[in-house]
Amino acid sequence: MKTIMTGNEAVARGAYEGGLVFASAYPGTPSTEILENIVNYKDDIYCEWAPNEKVAMEAAIGASVAGVRSMAAMKHVGVNVAADPLFTFAYTGVTGGCVLVSADDPGMHSSQNEQDNRNYAAAARVLMLEPSDSQESKDFMRLGLELSEIFDTPVLLRMTTRVCHSKGLVELGDRVEMPVIPYEKNIKKFVATPANGKVMRKNLVQRLKAMEAYANTAEINKPEYNGDEIGIITSGVSYQYAREVFGDEVSYLKLGMTFPMPMDLIKQFAGKVKKIYVIEEMDPYIENHLKMAGIQFIGKEVIPEYDELNPDIVRKAVFGEREEGIKVSQEAVVRPPTLCAGCPHRGFFYALSKKKNVMITGDIGCYTLGSAPPLSAIDTCFCMGGSISSGHGAAQALRKTGNHDLKVVSVIGDSTFFHSGINSLMDVVYNKGCNTSVILDNRITGMTGHQQNPGTGYTLMGEGTEEVDIPKLCQAIGMKEENIYIVNPNKLDEVNKALDEAMAKDEPTVIITKWPCILKKFSPQDKKEFDLSPKKCSINQDKCKKCKLCVGVGCPAIHSGDNIEIDKVSCTGCAVCKQVCPFNAIEEV
Ligand code: SF4
Ligand code: SF4
Repeated sequence: MKTIMTGNEAVARGAYEGGLVFASAYPGTPSTEILENIVNYKDDIYCEWAPNEKVAMEAAIGASVAGVRSMAAMKHVGVNVAADPLFTFAYTGVTGGCVLVSADDPGMHSSQNEQDNRNYAAAARVLMLEPSDSQESKDFMRLGLELSEIFDTPVLLRMTTRVCHSKGLVELGDRVEMPVIPYEKNIKKFVATPANGKVMRKNLVQRLKAMEAYANTAEINKPEYNGDEIGIITSGVSYQYAREVFGDEVSYLKLGMTFPMPMDLIKQFAGKVKKIYVIEEMDPYIENHLKMAGIQFIGKEVIPEYDELNPDIVRKAVFGEREEGIKVSQEAVVRPPTLCAGCPHRGFFYALSKKKNVMITGDIGCYTLGSAPPLSAIDTCFCMGGSISSGHGAAQALRKTGNHDLKVVSVIGDSTFFHSGINSLMDVVYNKGCNTSVILDNRITGMTGHQQNPGTGYTLMGEGTEEVDIPKLCQAIGMKEENIYIVNPNKLDEVNKALDEAMAKDEPTVIITKWPCILKKFSPQDKKEFDLSPKKCSINQDKCKKCKLCVGVGCPAIHSGDNIEIDKVSCTGCAVCKQVCPFNAIEEV
């Protein structure tokens, strides 16, 4: 039977068909929907959200060692977090097949960088597969589990945004039920001490030779000969772009397995065509292998080394011309990224933006949008969990150099705090820091589309579970009780008081803003704890002096024209704007 699936749905299906038993992930665009679809197979596959990617990888490793097929999924930057166990897992090898899905984001549609994780496979020396459509996403996931067991290696399945989110026809198959491989204690294989590691390293080199021999004959590394004038060497979604531009007139070598690289096959192909183009997105990964083999080709001197490719870019790069497209008369409406109407972060960021002499270190999540005007309340943003620790470094440096006027406030979300912010806060307390850490607890993982996390009280499979108590956790790592402030972020007085007190102290302080994301499906606990009854605000035009102070809160529901007005449909009645109006012109209705 055939059905239409996105690449991410197909990966989940491939995992199911491939006899997967354990899956773990940390949500991150464009990988999030993989686990959200695996949960549809929860009768056969145990699946969970992990607090971060390293934990997801380690849990998948444990499941593999226990004898079942397992996977971990994450976005490309997540692999940086998971790299520590991955590199050693490449040494030990697996018991049950194990696949790490890296969903890369060329063009940074929703990421802080656009790193090319094909380099990770080569650096960690793990077998890598690169699907180019939904069918291959399913097939390669399944194949990856098999190859993992055959070659005793973890497998990197490298997806990209366009493959993850595009839809295509997929032929469905049946699930293979894999028997659990009985557990045997094997210290020499799984305990990576230096003595064992030296042997593992030799084995790894042998394994690579076997994998390369396979790569040269693997069906997924496909030459398609259509003449000897031009040959295209490509992989992943770039194959689709190349096909659209060059059609059936040229020959192709489509690489489905790109580590180890099938060098014999590549040399054979290169010997049969007069001119070679390497069409690949991002880094010159294939290209560098060709250079090392002394093969002449045209690649990154014409194909951009940044941003996402598309057929038009490839056509322009190779032929110097664009295809005539359909002209549309209307421009798309410009929608700059902004916090949603009623977002519980708005009140906090508004109050913070009014403080003088503050350096604000930010993090990855919805609250990064606090950097956008008019709030402009974030000064730095590097990586998940980095706000508190980079704020700590800044605060210590300012203290050391005698600059006591500039205060440091670090902002992080609840899920990101659980991801790796806890370690950073521990660092602040342990090293007697002085930045104010703000945990913006909106009761869900917001930006990736509302996944549960250790603070929400629910698992991925929908079961109720223990909820992490953030204030108690802060105390457990050494934060003084009197330095922990819990505030309703929609109440500007509360936020201001907490900020003023916390920032005045020369010791670690924490402010926890607690209010559910306005787009969240409220849980029974949310309904019990918070007043979430529907409300609206509107502007009394008789009282309004058009001072536009309310526009400064940056709410998309407030429109500024001849009159200042609140859009009834999008307003949620959070009343942040009401507290800003000096003329009491904003009323709850
Ligand atoms: S009350 Fe004001 S700030 Fe809140 S959603 Fe409505 S318009 Fe926006
Ligand atoms: S802050 Fe009050 S007076 Fe000023 S524009 Fe807004 S509603 Fe009108």
